[in-house]
Amino acid sequence: MSKKGILTVVSGFSGSGKGTVMSGLLKAHSEYALSVSATTRDPRPGEVHGVNYFFVSKEEFREMISGNALYEYAEYSGNFYGTPKAYVDQCLSEGKDVILEIEVQGAAKIKEQFPDTVLIFVTPPTVEELLRRLTGRGSESPEKIRERMKNAVREAGSMQIYDYILVNDDLDECVEALHGIISAEHRRACRNRQLIDTITEEFEMIR
Ligand code: 5GP
Repeated sequence: MSKKGILTVVSGFSGSGKGTVMSGLLKAHSEYALSVSATTRDPRPGEVHGVNYFFVSKEEFREMISGNALYEYAEYSGNFYGTPKAYVDQCLSEGKDVILEIEVQGAAKIKEQFPDTVLIFVTPPTVEELLRRLTGRGSESPEKIRERMKNAVREAGSMQIYDYILVNDDLDECVEALHGIISAEHRRACRNRQLIDTITEEFEMIR
């Protein structure tokens, strides 16, 4: 099985539960490396700099762009978000599987640069359920909910560029399905060319 690290992008609607799925994956399978993005948005209560995000000013973000320090960046709901290159490079060079939890524009930019990337989109089973989860949080104003639904409509238009659609109905099932997809990707023939060559050469030798 391929030991080379796989780059996976996980996207999903706000309210799809993708953050909880990611936490569940890291808890059950600590071998995955989750990239920490840079953002210009303010931290939410409980969020920690360097853990959830690198919270930076617009000026610092601009410097990261001009210094070519980001693999991709996008504007989302009036704030900038980007993937720092350094951590991704380091983890992949160590053979680790790296996961980027980013939105759809960023996903497309990553796929352009790394065609081997696995793109996974997390969705609730129905739009009704998505709305229920968004309103159920209780913390969001009707205006914020409308904005999130508008974003979701736009994001739904990009679902077809993804390799896998993961329905988040049962959390544990969803976590194991995500782990299963990445494990299966390691076993793809195209990711195991070296093993195929070695086995072919060994057969040549005993002919
Ligand atoms: P939130 O503000 O709710 O944490 O994130 C808003 C959106 O930005 C989510 O869809 C999240 O996946 C996305 N996001 C987080 N980090 C990045 C990043 O580095 N690049 C891009 N393109 N999107 C990101």
